[in-house]
Amino acid sequence: MHFFVLFPLLAVFFACAPLPSLAPSGGTPTTLPEQSERDKPQPQKDEPPKQAIAERQFVDVGIGFEKAKPKIECKNSNTDCLYNGKNYRGEILVLSADTGNTVINRIAVEDYLKGVVPHEIGKLGKDGFEALKAQAVAARTYAYHHLGSRKSLGFDVFADTRDQVYNGRDGEDSLVNAAILGTQNLVIKYKGKLIEAFYHSTCGGNTDSPEVWGQEQKPYLVSVSDLDENSREFCYLSKYMSWEEKFSDAELVNFMQKNTANARADKIFAFGKIDQIFVTEKFKSGRIKRLVVFTDKGSFEVFGDRVRWLFARDGKILPSALFEVSHSGKEWKVAGKGSGHGIGMCQMGAIARAKAGQNFEQILKAYFTDVMIENISFMTEQTKP
Ligand SMILES: [Zn+2]
Repeated sequence: MHFFVLFPLLAVFFACAPLPSLAPSGGTPTTLPEQSERDKPQPQKDEPPKQAIAERQFVDVGIGFEKAKPKIECKNSNTDCLYNGKNYRGEILVLSADTGNTVINRIAVEDYLKGVVPHEIGKLGKDGFEALKAQAVAARTYAYHHLGSRKSLGFDVFADTRDQVYNGRDGEDSLVNAAILGTQNLVIKYKGKLIEAFYHSTCGGNTDSPEVWGQEQKPYLVSVSDLDENSREFCYLSKYMSWEEKFSDAELVNFMQKNTANARADKIFAFGKIDQIFVTEKFKSGRIKRLVVFTDKGSFEVFGDRVRWLFARDGKILPSALFEVSHSGKEWKVAGKGSGHGIGMCQMGAIARAKAGQNFEQILKAYFTDVMIENISFMTEQTKP
């Protein structure tokens, strides 16, 4: 067993920085986009990464955090390691601090993608190859754009939905690897800069902009319609094309009482009855912008994508913010379309577009407005400022 202990440099650093709450992961099944809860995090990052040129070709992935000394077994020196039931390419590093040990997989970006793409879009047949390529380019762009974005934690990206789901080498797939190789070093740029390459499972007919998170618009992340030549949604085959949730009066009071903080309601107070729920404003895509809940003790309001948290049942949030609420008898019904935040590439739409003959560039340009697909430029010693 070998591992590096980077100490004490980071021990000092970590003493005043919050440590990652990486739950011990293990046995995460391969998720298809329509099955997974893909919420790219709302940036809670130290510094928004902006580099158009990659400073390096490897990524540090935070794969675990443990109070005790982590158990890591490596075949060669500190590479080809087994940690927490998963096999990893690249190196494993451990950052030790008084509060515990952060386990990091340092890996070439192209190898990292082999452990991301199968979990982010699922394993597809040959007719989905162009969608795999589109996903590879989006995931690569995301990775380069986020180098350094979790600096205070000692790595670049989490290995879960806070960034991109990454499970090491075990879930690798030969067709996915071919898609990564076939798009090697290609990234999405807008006016020469790497874009924020968000993606989600199922848009339900229209994508949306970061306004759903209360963030400012980006010219390449605008709402686009995802309809085919017959005006049918490209993502119509998703099982989340339409969905429904039902709550009894008592259930909804109970859930909403617990959920108002996570939903970032404008007012938080105790109530015993919900009288009315109104959607007072929608985004262009139809997603809810403002929802007001009238209770026996007063009203409160929830904004944008956070409405999904308001209706969470035992921690499981609603698939999307594209829904209608109705009340009849003692039952509330929430009927919606789509899955995920709706920003950027619609994965189920991308798969359908690939099957319809579109290539990966056409797919990406359908969801990211006015972008170019270009080679990433690497910062060499000569080009460093
Ligand atoms: Zn779609």
